Amino acid sequence: MTDLTISAVRAIPLTAQMQAGTRTSQGDFGAVSIVLVEVRTADGLVGYGECLGRFGARAYAELINTVLAPRLLGQSAFDIRRLWQQMRAALTGRAGGMLLEAIAGVDIALWDLVGKALGQPVSRLLGGIGRARVDCYASSINWASPDVMEAQALQVVAMGFRAIKVKLGQPVERAIEIATRLRTVVPAHVRLSVDANWAYSLDDAVAVGQALHRLGYWFFEEPLVPEDVAGYAQLRRSVSVPLAAGESDYTVAHASELLRDRLVALIQPDVARAGGISETRDIATLAQAFHVGYAPHVGWSGAVCVAASLQLAAAMPAFVAFECMFIANPLRDDLATQRIGAAQNLIDGQLAVPDGPGLGIDINWDAVQRYRIDT
Ligand SMILES: [Mg+2]
Repeated sequence: MTDLTISAVRAIPLTAQMQAGTRTSQGDFGAVSIVLVEVRTADGLVGYGECLGRFGARAYAELINTVLAPRLLGQSAFDIRRLWQQMRAALTGRAGGMLLEAIAGVDIALWDLVGKALGQPVSRLLGGIGRARVDCYASSINWASPDVMEAQALQVVAMGFRAIKVKLGQPVERAIEIATRLRTVVPAHVRLSVDANWAYSLDDAVAVGQALHRLGYWFFEEPLVPEDVAGYAQLRRSVSVPLAAGESDYTVAHASELLRDRLVALIQPDVARAGGISETRDIATLAQAFHVGYAPHVGWSGAVCVAASLQLAAAMPAFVAFECMFIANPLRDDLATQRIGAAQNLIDGQLAVPDGPGLGIDINWDAVQRYRIDT
């Protein structure tokens, strides 16, 4: 019997003009577009699918061909639910997320443009609270053996950080063991926090969260999958360690689910994901209304995202702490003509906010040529 090993996936965008167009409250439609999907197996079978690609069918096809297809090759077409979960994870977050990321790129560019036109940094366009420097925490001690994690933590302390985040998420006993060891070796004046990246069930998150509270940890980030808002509500009632989340949210509507019942103590929108400076500003403003702190997620983003995040951090009253990735990242370190957001820029555990017009950085076009993949 065949095991339906997938050998090829191909998406083909199709558009046809209609002889008679249609008009609805949403406008006129003169053409129809779909995306045809072809899946082939090693033993020569072919399946076809279709997805709605009404606006930008080519973009949908590109997404399927470049993001989804490589994840399916070599796997069995019988395992539909597993393949679905892998595709869902590849597209990250809630429905429509990738489009909001696309909007974020345009939005950030518009703010930069307006700032340059007015000769003012974006932080001033946002109302300007006058922060020239922002408090930082080191991100993140990687998953590794306890010995390696301890060495990393001490190395980061030596860089001058006053707060450190640790990637946890191992089985409960192991996670608590690592958290305990790190709290023992890291000097008491350095705050410690944890990022579980959705690793836990509610029960396991309660067990780890209670231990983190006992150990005096600062916050416990994304213990549960982001869509389990009810789980966050139960966890909030069960543990005293402050919870943090929001890097997986795309809009103020998503973030409001965490904010309105104060399920988190820190909300962490990523400006390059959550619709850009406009939507992230609204999330940070809503956080202020609910007395929740704003801590921008930066992660492995490039120099432009880092610069936009610093401008927001400088301006938003709810700001608490900036995520400073202490490991080198070429797209952050080379993409602007000035080094931005790096641990080497730290002064007394803080990063300076660029005060030039717009985002306050200049693009290094040599680096753009070096890293572009569309030529
Ligand atoms: Mg995180």
